Amino acid sequence: MVESAKTDKMSTAAKKETPPKLGVPANDELEFREAYAYAGEAFQLIDRYKTPPFPSTFALWYAYVSKANESLVTTVDHMLQKGSVPSPYEINELCKAHLADREAEEAQQDIGREFQQELAGVLSLIQESVNSSDKFAAALDQIEEVLPDAGAPDRVQLLLTRLMHENQRMVAQTHDLNVGLRESQKQIEKLNRELEDVRHQSMRDALTGIANRRAFDSRIDNEIQQAEATGNSLCLALADIDSFKRVNDTFGHRVGDEVLRIFASVISENIKGQDLVARYGGEEFAIILPRTEMASAFSLIDKIREEFFSKELILRNSGKTLGKISASFGISALEPGLSARDLIEHADRKLYEAKNCGRNQVRAEGIN
Ligand code: GH3
Ligand code: MG
Ligand code: MG
Repeated sequence: MVESAKTDKMSTAAKKETPPKLGVPANDELEFREAYAYAGEAFQLIDRYKTPPFPSTFALWYAYVSKANESLVTTVDHMLQKGSVPSPYEINELCKAHLADREAEEAQQDIGREFQQELAGVLSLIQESVNSSDKFAAALDQIEEVLPDAGAPDRVQLLLTRLMHENQRMVAQTHDLNVGLRESQKQIEKLNRELEDVRHQSMRDALTGIANRRAFDSRIDNEIQQAEATGNSLCLALADIDSFKRVNDTFGHRVGDEVLRIFASVISENIKGQDLVARYGGEEFAIILPRTEMASAFSLIDKIREEFFSKELILRNSGKTLGKISASFGISALEPGLSARDLIEHADRKLYEAKNCGRNQVRAEGIN
């Protein structure tokens, strides 16, 4: 971050510039500008109070400056009046207590994204500011070159001297500003990368490395909209490892974890393109298959079932076999008017049938 003095210079320079293009449709522009202004203020508060630049901190300051939550504003004002700045622990507690209208983690996701948009905006401001400072110095350089050749009288000579002074002053100032801005630019780019990592991580399941439930939830709605808009088919498969409790009970949780990883990788290796496999819960997985007819979905999922079942799973230490482990699957297909919840319920019903009919099989709507 640049220090406060340099930040002031930057914002004064920024105010004179045309606001950067935000890359959003014109009718969203007003709402975006407002959010953009709040984001800028929140960003300044992070800097002023030296609170760590994490999504939850940004959430807190954003809610504070936008006055989205009266009780939060009162609490924070009270703390600041006493001269105490919220610690990272207090920030998390404040977020939990006052910003709990969505799941905390989900909120962090949204705000992380907003933070990135803000950072991208600040980056372009910095770039513009650097460019305009460079241009100013170049213009003064030109005057300096041309005027002494004009055979000017005393007054012009005086003006010239002043101009040269001004030029030297601007060059020094521009240099300082540019050094500060470049430093700030580097910091923001680093933050941006860190945030991208956090966002990526929070969409992954830590055990298997595949997408997690949140990633699934956000993707399924998009895929349904897409399928409805284009008239393409869409299938959803739910998978559940059979008698998995027995695996844990017999061989221990760590072996159970390894089986989960193997199952996830068998599915991942068999899907491609727009398909998505996510860990839906404990030993349950969801597979979204866009642009896929039921017949193809069925044969793909049955291939996965077969491949997993045929794996020879052996304990590394003892060489003892785990025996055959199977999984059951249920598949649903999108029909006009169905919601994500309907699609999941239909797949779950077919999965339940697969379990009831003896496990280690695929049951699909309209097929069996
Ligand atoms: P079914 O064939 O009916 O699906 O029986 P099941 O034993 O697979 O189902 P049940 O729901 O009785 O047990 C699921 C087990 O999965 C219980 C839970 O401890 C285990 N499990 C859930 N998440 C994990 C995990 O991350 N690691 C391990 N090792 N086990 C897990
Ligand atoms: Mg289960
Ligand atoms: Mg199970």
